[in-house]
Amino acid sequence: MTKPIHTPRALVAGAAGLVGSALCRYLLDHGVEVIAVDNFSTGSVKNLEPLYNHPHFSHYRHDICQPLENITAPLHFIYHLASPASPDDFDGLALEILDVNSKGTENLLKLAKQHKAKLLFSSTSEVYGDPLVHPQKETYWGNVNPSGPRSCYDESKRFGEALITHYARLHQVDYVIARIFNTYGPRMRINDGRVVPAFIKAAIEDEPMLLHGGGQQTRSFCHVDDLVRGLAHLMHSEKTNGDTFNIGNPQEFTVEVLATSLWEIVGKPVKLKAIPSPREDDPVRRRPDISKIKDLLGWEPEIHLRDGLWETVKDFQERLS
Ligand code: NAD
Repeated sequence: MTKPIHTPRALVAGAAGLVGSALCRYLLDHGVEVIAVDNFSTGSVKNLEPLYNHPHFSHYRHDICQPLENITAPLHFIYHLASPASPDDFDGLALEILDVNSKGTENLLKLAKQHKAKLLFSSTSEVYGDPLVHPQKETYWGNVNPSGPRSCYDESKRFGEALITHYARLHQVDYVIARIFNTYGPRMRINDGRVVPAFIKAAIEDEPMLLHGGGQQTRSFCHVDDLVRGLAHLMHSEKTNGDTFNIGNPQEFTVEVLATSLWEIVGKPVKLKAIPSPREDDPVRRRPDISKIKDLLGWEPEIHLRDGLWETVKDFQERLS
């Protein structure tokens, strides 16, 4: 962290999810007081329970689409991580996703204005849609279907970025936008539906891993501990104010390679099954260009995919048993 301040206090919205719960731990470990907020739509109470006795941790159940009027303690930082993120939720939670990235974002902007706090918005690589340039730089405007099945997520994140940009200009709010690429790690929902938890669950339960469209689409997978270290750096640096950064792991793997690398980790052969892609608009290639955050803050991922998968498999094995 580049800017130490006295008694720093952060509100983490979406604290019970994969990224939020790891971020709460990271901030507490670095002397930041944490107020965790979540409506538990996709997050789990169990992700926060180990923090309940921490003297600098408090939490409450709240839907950020409703105004946050009870926060009286001064806030310095507001992390907006609240949004369902799995493509499996794009059907059932479409309206909630649109709401949380629009109304929810506006409520957090108002809170940031009231407290003169800096807001970090968790945007996504999905704002690039099915990209026509590769790897993706922040300057790329994307190739997005505005009314397709993924639009509740990618268009609402794009709207969230636009809302923050204009609100901040009109109301002098400090902010940074983090475009997060595929992230995985312990405490992911077992039935989340994203590729890493889906494959690990299948491998442990001896079920076939389903390779949508044959599994030749590529993804880059960032360990959640690398990600939250980067988010905290983005928040704490004055140099990032008003700007947008890709954050993720630039190492690119096909989904098929991800599946076969789990073979060694689970210690038994994995079953693969190619199926036609059920997901319209599923991007074919995805890899972040992270030179902007690396050059400015020196941040880059440190955890190798094999080590991160190993830890995640162990966590899933414990929870499934
Ligand atoms: P997650 O589903 O594990 O966590 C999201 C959390 O937000 C959950 O705890 C959920 O209950 C909470 N939430 C949802 N709607 C809410 C609301 N209205 N009010 C309060 N809480 C609410 O997802 P994640 O992987 O931890 O993602 C965190 C953020 O990062 C999301 O905004 C997501 O869009 C973004 N992101 C994640 C990834 C990734 O690969 N993990 C990639 C790109 C962007």
